[in-house]
Amino acid sequence: MMNFKNLQKNVHAYLTYCKDVFGAEVLINREKKLTALDLYRQEIENCTKCSLSATRKNFVFGDGSANAEILFVGEAPGAVEDEMGLPFVGLAGKLLDKALHHIGLDRSEVFITNILKCRPPGNRDPLPDEIALCEPYLHQQIALLKPKVIISLGRIAARTLLCLPSDTSLTTMRKQHYEYCGIPFCVFFHPAAILRNAGREDEFFADFEQLKEKYLKN
Ligand code: SF4
Repeated sequence: MMNFKNLQKNVHAYLTYCKDVFGAEVLINREKKLTALDLYRQEIENCTKCSLSATRKNFVFGDGSANAEILFVGEAPGAVEDEMGLPFVGLAGKLLDKALHHIGLDRSEVFITNILKCRPPGNRDPLPDEIALCEPYLHQQIALLKPKVIISLGRIAARTLLCLPSDTSLTTMRKQHYEYCGIPFCVFFHPAAILRNAGREDEFFADFEQLKEKYLKN
């Protein structure tokens, strides 16, 4: 069995190795970023700013890596997400996982969240006052994560975040390059839409391939 002195020696050797390879600041900053995101979740998870707090089963902060370079944003949690307290874990979430695997990623390497952190009853669209109250949480998540790119899953999240007219089509938005908080912003199909229209699955996967090409080269 390893004694304490040997353990100390091994930990010191590992930290020295990490410092040489990544630099001390990288280690310290990543640790701070993780802690800040965790603390932020604790700070807001009991939010009662809008009426959705009365009907939710669970607050859905988001899930993934605090070091994620890619942030996915949907509109709001659904029934399974509300039940489990995690975003995109139903059938649509399984398709999102499949698309991530298609480009060699796991959901633990990205960050996934929604504009609203609580489920609207019956999965209705988010209301403007709910968005106005909840969107600052997303802003803060972005400030803490500092992602390289933000992907909107579906037209509602995109229209909302980009303040686009309500008749802007997903087809139009998919072809555009936007910015949100100064960060490149792309619009993908919502995986639930692909479940309803499997004929568009190739286009859904093609968007992920372009994401890989553009942002995951190195
Ligand atoms: S939806 Fe957002 S603003 Fe409304 S209660 Fe949930 S966390 Fe608070």
